[in-house]
Amino acid sequence: RRPAQDRARCAFEGLTALSIDGSGIARDLRARLAERATELANAGHRPGLAVILVGDDAASQIYVRNKIKACEETGIRSLLEKYEASFGEGELLARIAALNADTNVHGILVQMPLPKHIDPGRVIEAISVTKDVDGYSIESAGRLVTGLPGFKPCTPWGCMKLIESTGIDLRGKHAVVIGRSNTVGKPMALMLLQADATVTICHSRTPDLAGQTRDADVIVAAVGRRNTLTAAMVKPGAVVIDVGMNHIPEGEPRAGKLCGDVDFAGVCEVASAITPVPGGVGPMTIAMLLANTVESAQRYAQGAPRLV
Ligand code: NAP
Repeated sequence: RRPAQDRARCAFEGLTALSIDGSGIARDLRARLAERATELANAGHRPGLAVILVGDDAASQIYVRNKIKACEETGIRSLLEKYEASFGEGELLARIAALNADTNVHGILVQMPLPKHIDPGRVIEAISVTKDVDGYSIESAGRLVTGLPGFKPCTPWGCMKLIESTGIDLRGKHAVVIGRSNTVGKPMALMLLQADATVTICHSRTPDLAGQTRDADVIVAAVGRRNTLTAAMVKPGAVVIDVGMNHIPEGEPRAGKLCGDVDFAGVCEVASAITPVPGGVGPMTIAMLLANTVESAQRYAQGAPRLV
């Protein structure tokens, strides 16, 4: 069977870049995870993910709903805990302590952002590192830096899987990451480094972004601004991963629709492979959350949840 990205040519006629089929790759991965989840459940260790939502942020509600649905489809038991925006930090920490002790729960996810009166750092650090399936804690980050086993943040890890799907050998390649957030840009750079790429991290103070990207074999754009990466900024044959999630403004064609940080139509003409938005990185983020949860359940089933 041919790899997913070979089946989906770029949507724009006559162009050569492959559109990396994140939806298809995520679907295949989820099918494999469902098999593992069934095996674990049959052995009495059904994977379980607890999702905590505090407040009524509209986007968070959608994200949480999608994660719960994905769990159901994969055979992972999901426990949704929803609290009013007035829920206290102490109460939340107590709930996390209870979930840390619950042997039926293998992953704990607290949906961000939290209401202003709750310190997100304190909440993340309260989650046991053996259940930190978002990979956001300081210990998980330290494990990534030092190359120790641990849960990797889902979005950049999903990007790694998409890059791998193109068949590119990252060893010695120049990878440019645009964006340096703790959740996407920095862990992305570390994962590329671990794969032996030579990595450059760019951000809002980088004086000549195009000068950096034009030299890159792999570009990951994680900015949150449309058209940050255009065709003139890309070396022919580069692999381009678009993490951005933006909305097309009113008055433009396809107003209100989702778009990435990359000028897809333009970059398609020079890149060898590119992720679309939607249908690229987004589906992989959820798939990697499921992967981390199944992995955690496996560790618990083997009686060795500690991340040696
Ligand atoms: P963030 O925390 O706002 O970080 C954005 C980064 O972009 C910052 O490091 C910023 O630099 C940099 N930046 C801003 N303007 C720039 C410019 N003109 N040139 C170069 N760099 C610039 O955002 P994030 O959480 O990393 O997310 C980035 C994007 O990915 C957003 O659109 C978000 O919605 C999307 N996202 C998607 C998924 C998914 O599953 N598809 C998951 C997570 C995030 P400074 O540090 O100097 O300010």
